Amino acid sequence: MNSVQSVVSCLDGYDPDALAVDKAKEAIRACLTPVADVERVAVRAALGRVLAERIVPAIDVPAHDNSAMDGYALRFADLKPGADSAFQEVGAAFAGRKFDGKVGAGQCVRVMTGAVMPAGADTVVIQEVVRAEGGRIVVPAGQKAGQNVRSAGEDLKTGVAVLHPGQPLRPAELGLIASLGIAEVEVRRRLRVAFFATGDELASIGAPLAQGEVYDSNRYTLHGMLTRLGVEISDLGVVRDDPAQLEAAFHKAAAGADVVITTGGVSVGEADFIKQLMAQLGEVLFWKIAMRPGRPMAFGRIGKAALFGLPGNPVAVMVTFYQFVRDALLYLSGRTDDYTVPLLKVPVMAALRKVPGRTEFQRGILSRDANGEWKVRLTGQQGAGVLRSMSEANCFVVLEHARGNVAAGDLVSVQLMEGLA
Ligand code: AMP
Ligand code: MG
Repeated sequence: MNSVQSVVSCLDGYDPDALAVDKAKEAIRACLTPVADVERVAVRAALGRVLAERIVPAIDVPAHDNSAMDGYALRFADLKPGADSAFQEVGAAFAGRKFDGKVGAGQCVRVMTGAVMPAGADTVVIQEVVRAEGGRIVVPAGQKAGQNVRSAGEDLKTGVAVLHPGQPLRPAELGLIASLGIAEVEVRRRLRVAFFATGDELASIGAPLAQGEVYDSNRYTLHGMLTRLGVEISDLGVVRDDPAQLEAAFHKAAAGADVVITTGGVSVGEADFIKQLMAQLGEVLFWKIAMRPGRPMAFGRIGKAALFGLPGNPVAVMVTFYQFVRDALLYLSGRTDDYTVPLLKVPVMAALRKVPGRTEFQRGILSRDANGEWKVRLTGQQGAGVLRSMSEANCFVVLEHARGNVAAGDLVSVQLMEGLA
């Protein structure tokens, strides 16, 4: 990864104490280099991976002209314009079993969907419109030349690249690769992400809760968010606010990982030694981001790994993850498509208070009103520690940096959470 300070200080309007969300994203990207290692995997195992090669068809798909419908294949030239035409049925073709002869003048062949077009025929008339009369097949007027025929190569053409490096492989791409008869593809290796939670007050599930303690939930939301992104995870547990234990954890995390994520310890009220330690072990910047929740965040490098020091508050962890870490991980994974989560404009049901000068990610519920129109409302309490607000929400209401108070009925930007996975 590139030297952090020298990269970010070149960015226009970079201010670590009042960093706009977009600036922070830009700064993070500028410091990262996508993983280069590739591996070959079987098609099924490629789901969710990032393609590392160009896929160039060695065959046409479909390989032959074939019928798109059940019906009769014939020569268009044999149809009388404006009148019924009678044909002699000379055979049949099925998907996987072709007609061996040739269709001559006044002849037709019964064809099923997917059957290779019989030689000589150029047009298929669907079975529903023909009638059998005196041993002949009668076709009404109004047919079009070449209708109901799928031409060879109309899906994929030999030699014309169809998939490119940097594309994520979704179910459609798996099918497409299989349709070319390809069994293995080259993909970027998976990212390795190590994480731990910091805090003297944290108890682990399974242990009783002592006075003043809270159960650690951040490692579980991180587990979920990282797993959905398809990265290899290494959960290093809860680490006390103790210099020696933290140092050991940072070393262990950075040793095998591309990215290290921590939660807690970066807020103003935290003991300074955590920040000193992070800064000492690598190159780490401490940001105050103009956003809510999630104002304090550390970003930098520990050893060879990129470091995200997320805040401790459970909602802030999720918001900073979705806004910054997700973007960084997809970039690092080699994705070259646009993976920005789209913002939809939706009317808000009640007025919202908002001060200009920071981006807010309020938790919303997008639903349809009695008229079937999509509307958004907030979940209850919006505190950075109220994880229930994330659980009740199905979207973020994104209130832009410069925006002030919002009146009921105004359009607001909404980011669906499902797209964030
Ligand atoms: P910090 O950023 O370390 O000052 O933590 C801010 C708040 O988040 C405190 O109330 C912590 O108790 C809480 N917190 C920190 N880490 C966790 C965690 N892993 N799980 C749940 N709450 C946490
Ligand atoms: Mg703490």
